[in-house]
Amino acid sequence: MAWLAGYPREKVKWYPTIDADKCVKCGMCMNCGKKVFDWTEDGPRVARPNNCVVGCTTCANLCLGEAIHFPDIREIRELYKREKIWSLVKQQLVEEGRLRVEKEAA
Ligand code: SF4
Ligand code: SF4
Repeated sequence: MAWLAGYPREKVKWYPTIDADKCVKCGMCMNCGKKVFDWTEDGPRVARPNNCVVGCTTCANLCLGEAIHFPDIREIRELYKREKIWSLVKQQLVEEGRLRVEKEAA
């Protein structure tokens, strides 16, 4: 996963949890393109938590019932610092040529 540059996803505790009492079954979270949720007779279920993109909170931001929660992002930032994930990501971006300055068309 690009945001982790090869650091094991299962070591990063970042995924949504759903407060079933608040969920109004609007279905919005099912728009997640990573197939994190399955739809059940009781509404959404977090079926594949480690498919969640680290740092993403879109489903929570757009959840009608404000029922989706994430861990404290500061813990993730601490992990990135401790495990030097920022420099791993930058190294990968350089290797892939994605930090090359684009020349403007004349
Ligand atoms: S977006 Fe929120 S309220 Fe809507 S189905 Fe998903 S968890 Fe429930
Ligand atoms: S935070 Fe983003 S990637 Fe994770 S489940 Fe929600 S929409 Fe999907």
